[in-house]
Amino acid sequence: MKVSKVEVFPLYVPLSEAIDAPISIPHADKVQDIVFGGYRATIVRVTTDDGLVGYGECMTRFAPAALKKIIEEVAPIVVGTDPLQPEYTWEIMYASMMNRGHNRGFFIEAISGIDIALWDLRGKILNLPLYMFLGGHQRDLIPCYASSLRMREKSIVLDTAQQFLDDGFRSMKIKLGKNPDGYVKDIKLVEEIRKQVGDDVILTVDANCAYHEDYKLALRVGRELEKLGTYWFEEPISPDNMYGYKYLVDHLDMAIAWGESSFTRFDFANMISERAIDIVQPNPCRVGGLTEVAKIAHMTQAFHLPYAPHTGSCSALCLAVSLHIATALPNLLTFEVMRSDWSKQDHNPLRHDLLKEPYDVLENGFLHAPRADRPGIGVEINEEILERYSVS
Ligand SMILES: [Mg+2]
Repeated sequence: MKVSKVEVFPLYVPLSEAIDAPISIPHADKVQDIVFGGYRATIVRVTTDDGLVGYGECMTRFAPAALKKIIEEVAPIVVGTDPLQPEYTWEIMYASMMNRGHNRGFFIEAISGIDIALWDLRGKILNLPLYMFLGGHQRDLIPCYASSLRMREKSIVLDTAQQFLDDGFRSMKIKLGKNPDGYVKDIKLVEEIRKQVGDDVILTVDANCAYHEDYKLALRVGRELEKLGTYWFEEPISPDNMYGYKYLVDHLDMAIAWGESSFTRFDFANMISERAIDIVQPNPCRVGGLTEVAKIAHMTQAFHLPYAPHTGSCSALCLAVSLHIATALPNLLTFEVMRSDWSKQDHNPLRHDLLKEPYDVLENGFLHAPRADRPGIGVEINEEILERYSVS
């Protein structure tokens, strides 16, 4: 059996009106219209000469049509390959641009989607769910957290926290840092949330790089957060600031989480070997697909680091793929269940309608592992969504 066709669906759902950045990002006033103008995803469909179909996703923060173009140019490498050997195909795709300045960014996101589609095919051909290739069925129930409490008015944040509790979550993440200099206000809000949810709920905090290059400010914020019993501090500073991360790891007791903005086993090897992070958060649709996830996962195991898959700002397909990772890894910490969209009023069809069946049925704060009788990713794609939201 060989790959016969690679197709791409660059999806964009514009928001009905511009919104303020719902998370902290440096220079938000100047970039938020571009970053938060709409929901995006790029879906890849790979078909074999026997007519089997596999799906993958590229994380798409910007310009889905650019990813489409890259995938179309890479496709001749993939057509004619054996879908049972995605790792080998990955090496060939990577080799085409690795020494041409494209070993990160759009190119790696593009090959991530192709790689995941090939793994989906591998599972379908061998009639096995993906977790069987990643470490097996390590658990039936997957610990998870609600993502995220976004920076809105206090009453909305507290209502949302209560909603997460009522939905059964025992852990949730708070976005903070929108106004880095006004961090005292953020700390007070975390305090209010702690009061609302009680001491038994695990709270984590994500700054989305709000403290940018100021790791000393991040340290001050971290010390206050520690007093409130928050479990991890995610992306306090710019993702490339390895020595800033190492400083925070060395000076804070709370765990430092990192990984959603980075690419391939090589970025992770650098941070892990320098002991610059405590919790590793790769996104399969960005790091290079499941081929890279598997290699990063093995590295984390060797260094005794916990793994917490990142799924934010992707479609439901990424969440479904990540559930296999969460099922299979011995060092899984917790799974990110996306429960809030950027816009309060605009429904996100990429997250809520792309799959024919929802997967995230919670039971006492846990998700169920994917079903053993559904090979590959084990989901059915609603093709109508692919057609309706495709842009060129
Ligand atoms: Mg994050």
